Parts: sequence; structure tokens; C-alpha cells
Amino acid sequence: MRWSQTFIPTLKETPADAEIPSHKLLLRAGLIRKLTGGLYTFLPLGLRALRKVEQIVREEMDRAGALEVLMPALQPPEIWQRSGRYQAAREVLFRLQDRAKREWLLGPTHEEVITTVVAGEISSYRQLPKNFYQIQTKFRDEIRPRFGLMRAKEFIMKDAYSFDATDEAAQISYRKMYDAYARIFQRCGLKTIPVEADAGVMGGKFSHEFMVPAETGESEVVYCEDCGYAANIEKATSAAPKSEIRNPKSEIEKFATPGVVTIEALAQPPYHIPADRQIKTLVYLLESKLILILLRGDHQLNEAKLAGVLGTTQFRAATAEEIYAELGAHPGSLGGVAATLKSGTLPIYADEALRGAVGMTTGANEDGFHLRNVSIERDLVVQQWADLRLAQAGEACSQCGRPLKVRRAIEVGHVFKLGTKYSEALGALFLDEEGKQQPAIMGCYGIGVTRTLQAIIEQCNDTDGIIWPVSVAPYAVCITPLTVTADSPVMILAEKICAELSSHGVEVILDDREERPGVKFKDSELIGFPIRIAIGEKSLAKGEVELKPRAGTLVAVKSDGAVARVLQLLHV
Ligand code: ATP
Ligand code: MG
Repeated sequence: MRWSQTFIPTLKETPADAEIPSHKLLLRAGLIRKLTGGLYTFLPLGLRALRKVEQIVREEMDRAGALEVLMPALQPPEIWQRSGRYQAAREVLFRLQDRAKREWLLGPTHEEVITTVVAGEISSYRQLPKNFYQIQTKFRDEIRPRFGLMRAKEFIMKDAYSFDATDEAAQISYRKMYDAYARIFQRCGLKTIPVEADAGVMGGKFSHEFMVPAETGESEVVYCEDCGYAANIEKATSAAPKSEIRNPKSEIEKFATPGVVTIEALAQPPYHIPADRQIKTLVYLLESKLILILLRGDHQLNEAKLAGVLGTTQFRAATAEEIYAELGAHPGSLGGVAATLKSGTLPIYADEALRGAVGMTTGANEDGFHLRNVSIERDLVVQQWADLRLAQAGEACSQCGRPLKVRRAIEVGHVFKLGTKYSEALGALFLDEEGKQQPAIMGCYGIGVTRTLQAIIEQCNDTDGIIWPVSVAPYAVCITPLTVTADSPVMILAEKICAELSSHGVEVILDDREERPGVKFKDSELIGFPIRIAIGEKSLAKGEVELKPRAGTLVAVKSDGAVARVLQLLHV
């Protein structure tokens, strides 16, 4: 391909609204253009790289025995009502109306569609296992679309769905996808770590996410360097610290704390009550009733764990008015001590780290007052003890006791054992060997294809630009003749090398633009072609060309050996 005949609008300046390196580079290298927040056009070079990623995904899915299909993006709401997700997922659903005012949805994912297909087609265990996948556009009404392709309103996902007759078979299907994912990301030149993930409340059994470690990632991974434990922060556990037994016999004492409404303020003079000796009281609304969530003062609530404990995501933090009406105090002075609750009791969910805690301080449910010498088990009625806190760096690993670390990461893939939630709701039933009707056991497996492309750039770049892994580079080689006059020896050689490399199946772009060498070199580095071959009159006089791997050092090679050298570098 000749540069002048394709379309590569590189930019010298970084567009103001691009925040992270990969987003800046996607725009600067002329790979994508923004239509509006969360919606992007792939330009020719960006599309070439995207197709490479898709092809790797396709090859590995095929190799793992999954069958490619293509489902409609437009979906009827009824199937979402049947699965129970019409309500649960309503915030991310894009809805629209047809001319008859009938409602339609733009699919954010396809469990309902594929399960409906399978329900109509599969009736016997002999037809199982089956795994269907597609590479298709998804729509999600994200609260905060940002970082280019990372969190878009419309993006390309590879989604696969397995159907099995038995738990053991479902386990094998899951493992096959897990292994395929590891190969896919490796072939894309990406370093990923699989981590345990939150299975949510939607009937999931267990799940793993494939994470690309990156400062700019929107996910957090808790990991232990000693035993290898790694989990999404939504799922991660840490060993509950043992409560210090102190003053077990002291009676509760009310004391004035005028103007004190934070844990931090109570830790300051004149009170000097460390955060880990305080009880943090959060008030939530569940099915229009208030519930109290108690944590140690230095701990944070993990809402995903709370959802797991409550068995629903349909809850929210109560407003100050709702709290005042029930507890008679404002946030900052709240507590769960039975004697201070107007109605005597409220459902209390307490984090394990508070078990057995005595000598604690908490709000008195009276503005400007707190209580000290509180013994959790003596003075409060806890309805349920559970792990509700976010794991934090430095806490003990729940597997081996060594200190945990936390790092940011980009979620590029997700494998999920679903069980029978969808097959039961949508009637994907089959007759087993004994002739008994059973729901198929499902798994679902997603890869954000467009996000993966950007994650590759986020991981593979330097101050000059992108450093494409060969497997996904839009072109493997860029030939840069320093004179572009037709029939000049430089151009003749450039065309010859281009033709030879192409005949070996190498994808080459020939920079035939009448631009200064500096401009051409900068562009080829910005775009990040794995190898650049520069041909100038001076070196040609010595019978040489200059070969520069994007991440390596420049070497002069004999012009008639250039092709062989490139093939060697590319492992063709
Ligand atoms: P996230 O936690 O980042 O919102 P998710 O867990 O909701 O993602 P899944 O439903 O697991 O996403 O979707 C499978 C994959 O699709 C994700 O692993 C991710 O790579 C990709 N993905 C999800 N949402 C987006 C988005 N808004 N833009 C681009 N890719 C996305
Ligand atoms: Mg996910």
C-alpha cells in the first residue's frame, strides 16, 4: 500500500479531551476519530489493527470448538423481562420505539437471545455440549463514557455462550474458554493476569477476569505476591483483623461531640479515638425499608459484596431526610446501639472485622453526641455478619496471611459460569440420558475487542508513539524512501523491496509522500510499525539501506539482504 493512497491523518498536537496515553495515540496516529463522547469511527489504519485482533480471537475460538454465529443487535424487551434483567439492567439499556410505539432494546449483551435460539433448537443431551460465539457491536448507556474505546457507548465485543448437560461438562467448557483467552491475549502481545471476579447476583457461580495492569485502568486488582492470589477488588477478601479485647465490662457512656461528623474528626484532638476503634454506620434503603451497615471506622463498604449478601442490586444509600425521619439524627451522629433506635430495631448487617469488638465509639443518634464503651455483641442486635469491606493494601491475604497489594488494571476479558438462570427462565431444556427434562448449564465469555485494541496501545508505547506487536500491527513494515521521484534509484529499490516482502505475505506500507525525512520518520514512529526500512541516496551509494525495528536499534544492511533480514525479524 502506498501512503499517499490510503488515509492516515496523523496529528502533531494532542487533542485536548484525550486523557490517557492510548487514547491520545489512537487519535494522533490517525487510527480513530470521535463522533461524540463514546462513539468513534475507525479509520483505515485503526480498522486494520482491529481486524487483526478480531482474527486472533476468531481463530482461537474456532480452535476451542466454539461456533461462530451473528445475532441481532436489536432485541425485543420481552426476553429481558423473562430473564428478570429488564429491571436489573435498565440503567445500561438503550431503548427505542418503532413507528407503532413498540419498545426495542439495543443489546448490551446476548444471553437472552442465544438462550432463546437454543431453547428452540436443542432438545436432547446428544446435541450438547455447544458453544456459540459472535463478534458484534454492543450498546451500553454508560454513566461515564471515557478514555476513547475503553469505555464507549457502542463497542465491539466477542461474546460466547456455552451450553452443557452436566456440571462436569460445564466445567470443561469454562476451562477451554479460560485457556483460549490466555492464548488470545498472549498472541495479541498483551500481558494479562487472570483474577477472581465478582459473580454478581444474577445466578452466577464463579468467574475470572483477564486484567491488563495499567495505571490508567478503571478496575482495581488485589493480589498477593507470595501465594499468587489475585482478585478484582469487588470480590477480593482479606483476613478479618482480630478485635482487641479491652474494657469489656465498662458501661456505655454518652459524650458531647459538637460539630463532629466524620471518623477523621473524632480521631483528632481532643477526642483521640483512632478510626479502628470507631464503628462506621451507613444507612441504606432496601425495598423501601432502612437497613444499617456497620463497618470498622477505617474500613470501606464494598457494594458488590453487599449486593451478594442482600441477594439484589436494588438498594441505595438513604438520603439525609430519610435517615433523619427514622433515626432522629443526621449522618455523622448515627449508630446502631439498640437503646438509641427509635423503633427499637433496624436490620443490621455488620462486617466480620467488628465481630467481638468492645470499647468502640459510635454515633448516639442525636446530633452532636457519640457513645463510647460500646460492645458490639452486648449493645447491638446484628441480624447478619458478613464480609462487607473492601480489601485494602497491607491487609493480610486470606489465603496465606502475607500482606496484600493493590494495583489498577484494565478488564479486557471475562469468563463466567452462569449455571441455569437463563436456561430455566427462557426454556433452554433438554432430555438427559434417563429421559428427564433438565435446564442446560450455561457459561458466558466476553472479550472487549475494541478495548483490547486500546489496551495493547496502553501497554505498548513510548514517548515517540505506539510500539505495535507484529501480530496486530496495521502494517508490519514501513518503507521510507527519502526521495520519491519516480524512476530514481531510491524509489526503484523501495518498490522492489516492497514487492518482494508482499510476495512473502508481509504487509508493507510505502511512504511515497513528498515530505521531509524528519516528518516521515516521526509519523512512522508515532504509528509504530514494527520495522522501518529507510532508503536514501547516501546509504544506497554504499549498497545499503537502514533497518530500524520500532523498539530496537538502527542497523545498516546490504540492500539485497534487506528482505531476508526483515523476514527473519518478523519470524516469517
Ligand atoms: P466494566 O466492568 O469495565 O464496565 P463489564 O464487566 O460490565 O465491564 P462485561 O459485561 O463483562 O463488562 O463485558 C465483557 C467485556 O466487554 C469486558 O471485559 C470489557 O472488555 C468489554 N466492555 C464492557 N463494557 C465496555 C464499554 N463500555 N466499552 C468498551 N468495552 C467494554
Ligand atoms: Mg466484566
